Amino acid sequence: MIDLRSDTVTRPSNAMRAAMMSAETGDDVYGDDPTVNALEAEAARLSAKAAALFLPTGTQANLVALLSHCQRGDEYIVGQLAHNYKYEAGGAAVLGSIQPQPILAAVDGTLPLDAIAAVIKPDDFHFARSRLLSLENTHNGKVLPLSYLQDAFQFTRTHQLALHIDGARIFNAAVALNVPLDALTKYCDTLTICLSKGLGTPVGSLLCGSEEFIRHARRWRKMTGGGMRQAGILAAAGLYALQHNVARLQDDHDNARWLAQQLKLIGVDVQEQHTNMVFVRLPDQQDTALKAWMAQHKILLSTGPITRLVTHLDVDRQALATVVTHWNAFLQAQ
Ligand SMILES: *Cc1c(COP(=O)(O)O)cnc(C)c1O
Repeated sequence: MIDLRSDTVTRPSNAMRAAMMSAETGDDVYGDDPTVNALEAEAARLSAKAAALFLPTGTQANLVALLSHCQRGDEYIVGQLAHNYKYEAGGAAVLGSIQPQPILAAVDGTLPLDAIAAVIKPDDFHFARSRLLSLENTHNGKVLPLSYLQDAFQFTRTHQLALHIDGARIFNAAVALNVPLDALTKYCDTLTICLSKGLGTPVGSLLCGSEEFIRHARRWRKMTGGGMRQAGILAAAGLYALQHNVARLQDDHDNARWLAQQLKLIGVDVQEQHTNMVFVRLPDQQDTALKAWMAQHKILLSTGPITRLVTHLDVDRQALATVVTHWNAFLQAQ
């Protein structure tokens, strides 16, 4: 199978499985798991934050971050299409009584600072308390510019907001900019990182922040059911990924660029390509036919009027050439 639906479909490699098999473990709820502790220390070091916390999923990591930043009746300002507004089942509102204040992102994936300023509520009992700005990097594959991160951080200092980055794919941003992670994370208070996307682990996310913040977050993690026991088996995959699968994200970006070029050459309407994502517009009604055609050739796409193709460590250039060949045959057969 060649699976371009998402970078979450990656399978643990044999070397990663070997690292998991030989992991030292302990009970992480007691703080006893040396491999979890090593992963959290490594995440803190890489992001230049004082502490980090290992969680099962990115959704839980974002939820725990929101619960730790905001009290009941507080609000967070967030993108209309951001994962932690749109795609997390309303968790912050349902479980935290935290009000989202969504705003539209600009085409480059940033939330315009004047638009944020316009929705910050005055200190008045009519209003929820504006507490937090949440940004997503990368957003639909788009890398937020460094200058924007710097300005947004300064802006939040002026307006007494905390700044959280949903960095599910923040390593894609760092690799694309060719900077170390902390060049990005110095412009936020807290961030989440997914290990289970392009980094290729089966499970796991990280939340990074100050010691005090992570102490709060640890209680929320327990409360939301994320305190795991011999989790070192999973953390070992994360440590392996941080060592071996970060620099190679550049291959995914190069492959996405190549795929976009090749699809253009056969007449596909390629809209955009950023980091490891290619977005194409399909003519009316073509999406189900294309999906079925490709599935017959063992290629998985999640098609729609705008179809997102995602490159990752389980698709190489040769696999993408196969995709282009079958796509071209499909177009010829129309
Ligand atoms: C995938 C993703 C998450 C969290 O995903 P999980 O599947 O819960 O690990 C959060 N934010 C963004 C931007 C994502 O793409």
